[in-house]
Amino acid sequence: MNDEAPVAQVPNERRRDWPPVAILALLALAIGTIVWLANRQPPKLAERTAESGLPLTREQRSVEFVSADLTFDVQPDSRRLDARALLEFLVEAPIGRLQFDLDPELPIESIAADGQVLPASSWANDGGLVTVKLPAANRAGDRLALAVAYGGKPHVARKPPWDGGFVWASTRNGRPWVATAVEGEGCDLIWPCFDNSRVEVGTVTQHIVVPKGLAAPSNGRLLGVDRLADGRTRWNWRASHPNNYAIAIDVAPYKLAQTIYYSRFGNHFPIQYWYLPGEEKQAAALLAEMIRTVGFFEGTIGPYPWGDEKVGVVETPHLGMEHQTINAYGNGYKTAPDGYDWLFNHEFSHEWFGNQLTNADWDDMWLHEGFATYMQPVTLGWLRGRMAYDSAMFKQRQQIANKHPIVSGRHRTDSEVSDSTIGPANDIYYKASWMLHTLHGLIGDDAFWRATRRTVYGRPDPRPGNFEPRFASTDEFVAVASQEAHRDLGWFFDVYLRQAHLPRLASWRKGRTLYLQWKTPRGLPFPLPVEVEVGGTRQIVPMQGGHGSIVLPAWYSLFTLDPDSKILRQSDEIDRYRDDRATKKPYGPS
Ligand SMILES: [Zn+2]
Repeated sequence: MNDEAPVAQVPNERRRDWPPVAILALLALAIGTIVWLANRQPPKLAERTAESGLPLTREQRSVEFVSADLTFDVQPDSRRLDARALLEFLVEAPIGRLQFDLDPELPIESIAADGQVLPASSWANDGGLVTVKLPAANRAGDRLALAVAYGGKPHVARKPPWDGGFVWASTRNGRPWVATAVEGEGCDLIWPCFDNSRVEVGTVTQHIVVPKGLAAPSNGRLLGVDRLADGRTRWNWRASHPNNYAIAIDVAPYKLAQTIYYSRFGNHFPIQYWYLPGEEKQAAALLAEMIRTVGFFEGTIGPYPWGDEKVGVVETPHLGMEHQTINAYGNGYKTAPDGYDWLFNHEFSHEWFGNQLTNADWDDMWLHEGFATYMQPVTLGWLRGRMAYDSAMFKQRQQIANKHPIVSGRHRTDSEVSDSTIGPANDIYYKASWMLHTLHGLIGDDAFWRATRRTVYGRPDPRPGNFEPRFASTDEFVAVASQEAHRDLGWFFDVYLRQAHLPRLASWRKGRTLYLQWKTPRGLPFPLPVEVEVGGTRQIVPMQGGHGSIVLPAWYSLFTLDPDSKILRQSDEIDRYRDDRATKKPYGPS
């Protein structure tokens, strides 16, 4: 269908020829199709379940979530999940009830507290928030173990990974190929958890039971594979401090490409790629890319954060997701002129920006996506040089919308950030990446990477064993970047992160003098120096007070502002291009 072939081209005579019976039959078919399509849609999620990052309840704030031991019996034929969760808490403030999040579409069969099975009347799932009345009051310092048996047909993702849930797919040979991706909706689509990025469970152990002949790679270290009497297998994995939305189930007849990586920091760890049979050649190439990328990230940022577990990637039927130590990869080994796999690279960045450093609030989500997006051109610059870096940056520049500020300064949920009608949406990727590029140019290599390293690890000298996963906020990054640059950079981040509109660089000449002035939203201060090239020589205009000038050799001298495109600023050309693209219907088949 395209707009050059309107319906009017169908001869009217033919339409008139159609007998009423045929029209009725067509109508019935159309209604049938609509009903069938409606039935195919997965049930709508409970409001609380669909959201991620809601404030923790008082009961949730009263305990520390110490560990979760999760058994998943995955049944691809019936698209069913039967599960058991052993949850351990440390009581920090006296409580008589416990609360956790779980999709009501996964009914609870039983709950036991400290080994005592509770009557069904003592727990209820109210729209995704499960409240359990405890048999005895608990005091601070008590340990509390909860066993939850539940199961059912888990929520099916409509458009993974953007719209999350279970993905029930098949390989080319008709074997089951199962995946989960729940970043937007959160962990409660799969297991009983606290669905807030601020909560990381100390240890998560998984026992994934799968039909005969299938494998279930997952987060963390493989503890072992048990063969059950009926031919099924149970895959046992353990991960430390995973993001709760990173807990992932992946099932397929996977094969494994792996190697041991010897790090510059003296430690070593496995690098594993779990792929579908028949893709040995592509898998070997991706494994080689994984090895060189680990080396680059360790050399640029610091130690791989999960060196006592593994580097892991698994092939999925959806595009990708940053599942800690088992990143989802579904980019189909696409070739690209810049010769790297952007999807693998982006998700792998999240091991540092997302998993090691986790945003303190979804309002700071640019710390995950902005850095992961900026690491793509940075990797390309290392691999292919300046042209690949610049070309990737220019593509990103065209994606910036400037409709809502990247950071609001208040608590936000995941969907408040990713909904483009009320939040920054893709600007946390591309605009934040360009902000980092501009910061990099302003403060230089040393200060930029030191600030990054300190924000990721909480210290400037990370080594395996001397750091823990941590939370970071925008304010912390602003403070650390200012310290490393030895000057207050609050003005820089105020304009780029906390305003929707970009700063505009106004320029005009009078005789031989070239005048420059920054125009910012609400006249905010913006003393960002500007480089100017005139006749092959460059000079930097300091722009104190937001304005500056230079004297040109002649009234007709040619000049270029910001010749290396170091600065993110408003551009009439790109705005026109974006407006044009938004209003024109695409030509050709759609
Ligand atoms: Zn990402």
